[in-house]
Amino acid sequence: MKKIILLIIVFSCGFMFAQGGKNDPLFVVDTENSDKDTIIKMIYASYTFDKNDITMDIATETIKYCEEAIVEICNYFNLDEKQYHNVFRYYLLGPSNGLASWECDGEITIYNVPDRKSSYYHETVHGVLGDSSNLWLMEGIADYLDDINTKYPLNIKGGRALDEISKSYILKGDKYRNSFPLIFDEKESIDDATELTVQSFYLYSASFVCYLLKIMSPQEFLEVYRSTDYKSDLKRITGHSFKNLKYRWLKSIGLSIYQILVYKLL
Ligand SMILES: [Zn+2]
Repeated sequence: MKKIILLIIVFSCGFMFAQGGKNDPLFVVDTENSDKDTIIKMIYASYTFDKNDITMDIATETIKYCEEAIVEICNYFNLDEKQYHNVFRYYLLGPSNGLASWECDGEITIYNVPDRKSSYYHETVHGVLGDSSNLWLMEGIADYLDDINTKYPLNIKGGRALDEISKSYILKGDKYRNSFPLIFDEKESIDDATELTVQSFYLYSASFVCYLLKIMSPQEFLEVYRSTDYKSDLKRITGHSFKNLKYRWLKSIGLSIYQILVYKLL
């Protein structure tokens, strides 16, 4: 009986989210429906038939990655899977100009690109943790966990390469440093940023998050992530002001006091 109810939910949801009749649910990986205050965890894949080269094998492999990522991320933060309030829907689409995207309702679109595994991981972190009031916290933790768990080719070495590349970027020139205010003061929207700014913004955010996770537990990080005043919470947890933390991070990736001051990184 329970299975029949689940199937009805699954198929009606699949129908609701289908777009223009072209997306049919491919298969359902996992559905969990608890009592009233319910979180339904649902993962299914659908694909557009007219513009992709996604095969059943690719879909199966990707959904397997997704399932593993959710478990890993929940374990890392010590979250009970039943407590995170997201409904996951994965759409697998053909080639596009993006790698993956995540919408605030938990819909994740993953395109068929070679580094699919890395993209899905990044978006799944967003899906599990939900919104933060700060973009650098969101993108930093997503890229950092992606880095340590999928060994994304650019960022192997469990976070250390993030630091090395961040340092080399900072030393490269002004345009490589113009994402600093974006990260830490949130003066501008990232929407208008150049590709280089976006790329360096993700990189610096991930390296800074990597540093923070050396001095606080994942659970404490999550408190900061969910805080409406992250600077005070960082101070309470680490004993350091935000500016001091930035300084310590920059020193930890190998920059000198002179470089930090001359490039106005604080
Ligand atoms: Zn992201």
